[in-house]
Amino acid sequence: MKKYRLMSPGPTPVPEKVLLKMADTIIHHRTPQFQVVLKEVSEKLKKVFCTANPVFIFASSGTGAMEVSVVNLLSKGDKALVVRGGKFGERFGEICQAYGVEVVAYDIESGKAADPAMIKKLLKDNKGIKVVYSTLCETSTGVVNDIKGIAKEVAATDAVLVVDAVSGLSADELKTDEWGVDVVVSGSQKGLMLPPGLSFLSLSKKAEKLVETSNIPKYYFSLKAAIKAYAKNDTPWTPAVSLVIGLNGALDMMLQEGVDNIVARHARLAKATRAAVKALGLELFAVNPSNAVTAVKVPQGVDGGAIVKKMRDEQSITIAGGQSELKGKIFRVAHLGYMDEYDIIASIAALEMVLSQLGYKVELGKGVAKLEELLK
Ligand code: PMP
Repeated sequence: MKKYRLMSPGPTPVPEKVLLKMADTIIHHRTPQFQVVLKEVSEKLKKVFCTANPVFIFASSGTGAMEVSVVNLLSKGDKALVVRGGKFGERFGEICQAYGVEVVAYDIESGKAADPAMIKKLLKDNKGIKVVYSTLCETSTGVVNDIKGIAKEVAATDAVLVVDAVSGLSADELKTDEWGVDVVVSGSQKGLMLPPGLSFLSLSKKAEKLVETSNIPKYYFSLKAAIKAYAKNDTPWTPAVSLVIGLNGALDMMLQEGVDNIVARHARLAKATRAAVKALGLELFAVNPSNAVTAVKVPQGVDGGAIVKKMRDEQSITIAGGQSELKGKIFRVAHLGYMDEYDIIASIAALEMVLSQLGYKVELGKGVAKLEELLK
């Protein structure tokens, strides 16, 4: 028997306390009992999203909330500027195109971050852009974007900024209202320490204006329906009751730690992880690395797929490989959500053993020693 460790950038481990809450008797959603939960969750979510605006919950994975942000803010033929620095930026573009929205693409070299000055230029050169889409943490490359800088440029125009914080929320700093971010989308299976199944979207007043005019067909994912129901402390459809109850517990844990402290914990673990992989002679992939996940270049002569497979099958530690064109070229170790020093130490120790078995010259213990030095 080996203890299972989930070091992927989603799903992430769920605390036992939260699991137990979700195992409780199911209650009906149109009841005063559930209304109490919904009210509490709504208030707590605002704190974690760093906003005074409402945060809506959907029964979907994170992509659902991304779709909500397209079908409710835009109309057919509208223009959207999409920051495409990897798989998830590309996804925003694909959703826009699926609904007949014209995409002005800002393509960034894989592993690099968006430049706010380029956003400014693209907004100036392409008149009429209604929405700008960017990821906070581009999970596929491990890059964190300068959302503060981007928000400054977007806020100076009529455009609305939508940030995909599916993996970045609570790991990387995101001062939604303070920075002027209009919409933040996220998912449950990452920093929020829940199983997959919920997605979230916060909505500013500026963005709400677009909701009123959007003509893209939608039904289940209607923000108008959500706004109307939430005004009565209700949801338009049957919510994922158990997940929302679990969320209430997870948010309690998060607020007890404090949002800034959670970001600081992620920053500390991420910094130590980066130093440890460098101590093993490995190279980082992201120029501007996120606190959520560390993307590492597969060393020459080593089978990248085998690293992930051996970690999972022999060490019982799930890390992630590269996606699409990065398959086999990088591997990603997350330090996201319910994580502490010992999760990182175990993962780096296992990585040293796996790399050594795969023929990579590594001095066993060197990465772990670096972690101990930094995390003591
Ligand atoms: N955006 C980002 C940045 C993500 O990391 C993910 C999930 N890895 C998604 C969007 C999509 O979320 P989901 O898989 O929950 O639909």
